[in-house]
Amino acid sequence: SFKKSLGQNFLTEPNILRNIASTAELNETDRIIEIGPGIGALTEHLARSNGEVLAFEIDQRLIEVLDDTMSPYNNVTVVNEDVLKADVKQIAESVFQTEGSIKVVANLPYYITTPIMMHLLMSGLDVESMVVMMQKEVADRITAVPGTKAYGSLSIAVQYYMDADLAFIVPKTAFVPQPNVDSAIIKLQKRTTPLVDVVDEDFFFKLTRSAFTQRRKTLWNNLISYFGKDEATKEWLETSLNECNIDPKRRGETLSIIEFGELSNRLIANKK
Ligand code: SAM
Repeated sequence: SFKKSLGQNFLTEPNILRNIASTAELNETDRIIEIGPGIGALTEHLARSNGEVLAFEIDQRLIEVLDDTMSPYNNVTVVNEDVLKADVKQIAESVFQTEGSIKVVANLPYYITTPIMMHLLMSGLDVESMVVMMQKEVADRITAVPGTKAYGSLSIAVQYYMDADLAFIVPKTAFVPQPNVDSAIIKLQKRTTPLVDVVDEDFFFKLTRSAFTQRRKTLWNNLISYFGKDEATKEWLETSLNECNIDPKRRGETLSIIEFGELSNRLIANKK
């Protein structure tokens, strides 16, 4: 029986499983992290790369099944934990025997796609790439470019760290049970050089979220709603925008990550 509450939609198409593994370009020196192995359909493909595999599965009932399906492989460790509560970095350091780059490969539980992505990006692990399946709508938001409807604080939060591309679409018929929406595989690759040197990341992320609070409003109106409408605040915002050559009448969705980064640095430098 499936637990809908845990986002259990199992992939059954061998071709798609193979495609996911090949998109991840795995090799024997890789350290692979999987979230939600389920009954191990994808895990087997990961294990065949001969890299080391660490999988987090929350459902106790599946652990026995996994012990069984994974018994031919000696390079797989399954941890029975809620990945969102787990110290992934510490567990990875204690499980992996070798040094190597970390690649995340997973068919994510959709009810917590964004929290898992953020948990992994903020985990302190040096993740080289992520090949992950999610709802197509979320994949579109993560990979969106400025000036499009899907572009927002989630696109920025992910693309700040990683280069993001849509790899391929997976129809809902490829799953048992079928989810309500189509899915997509995205591939994220760590940026070799940062897009922009941000002085204060917390402030940068607050700024980007505030710029999208009301999408129909101008950047200026979102910023004064967030930072304050008093004269000193307006002066501080106006000067900083001006120094960055950003028209306050633009909408948040037209600003690139570099522009947000530069504005955030200017705002910090000019102090309120
Ligand atoms: N990898 C399998 C596949 O492709 O067929 C199963 C994918 S299914 C979409 C998501 C899996 O994530 C389920 O096995 C579910 O039990 C597990 N899961 C859900 N919430 C989790 C959590 N917080 N931590 C770890 N695993 C979780």
